[in-house]
Amino acid sequence: MISPQRMFVSCAKSISDDVPGPFRPLTVQQWDRIANVAREASTRVQAALAVLRRTTAVPYPCPHCPARALVVHGGDGQLPAAKCEKCGRTWAGLDTAA
Ligand SMILES: [Zn+2]
Repeated sequence: MISPQRMFVSCAKSISDDVPGPFRPLTVQQWDRIANVAREASTRVQAALAVLRRTTAVPYPCPHCPARALVVHGGDGQLPAAKCEKCGRTWAGLDTAA
């Protein structure tokens, strides 16, 4: 078994020499998991910073057509807006900030 110190030196040398390290290559599943975690982390950071625009379907009928196709967009610091995906009408909120 290799000591932690030797492992550290081996890793540092492989990084500084820009050669593949003493590690096994990642599997496709591991790359996919890393990508999924990175994507979720990005989404959470954007939501925390209020820069992520979200879209949510609402279960109410459009007042102008019989479709139940209303969606609300918001969450990114812009004024929220509701839009009927069927007829295209859009309703924007009022800016109440003083
Ligand atoms: Zn409509």
